[in-house]
Amino acid sequence: IKVKLLVSACLVGCRCRYDGKSYEDEILRVLVEKGLALSACPEVLGGFAIPRPRAEIVDGTGEDVLLRRARVINENGEDVTPQFVRGAFKFLDLAIKNNIKYAILKDKSPSCGVYNIYDGSFTGKLKQGRGVSSALLRKWGIIIYSNGQIK
Ligand code: SF4
Repeated sequence: IKVKLLVSACLVGCRCRYDGKSYEDEILRVLVEKGLALSACPEVLGGFAIPRPRAEIVDGTGEDVLLRRARVINENGEDVTPQFVRGAFKFLDLAIKNNIKYAILKDKSPSCGVYNIYDGSFTGKLKQGRGVSSALLRKWGIIIYSNGQIK
């Protein structure tokens, strides 16, 4: 049986969120346990520690970050764009090496967001757009669903 799906690690109990928390999706967890899905966290792949300061994409979306038209800034005002881009390419590399065509990613994340991300003001407001890793996987042709779509 081959791995078919890449999932955001925090959806299957990995406490890799910026605040050290996670989500528990039983169905996805079973798929990972059976070897049908692979889980990874692009922010951890990019070198971030857990926990870490919150980060948001300023003046654009994940696509804009990849085109160097926008940056990812953390709540301390530090530019963390390089780590986000590095993590996105490592995440994509995992998908390519495992011949993965589908992904289920955590919406609203500056890395994994599928439909919405926070707007860069750190006030809890959302804007439409993908996170950096989600945008990169999509450019590669991987079909992406958000965690909200599998409920
Ligand atoms: Fe979850 Fe993705 Fe954020 Fe990692 S980068 S904690 S996998 S949403």
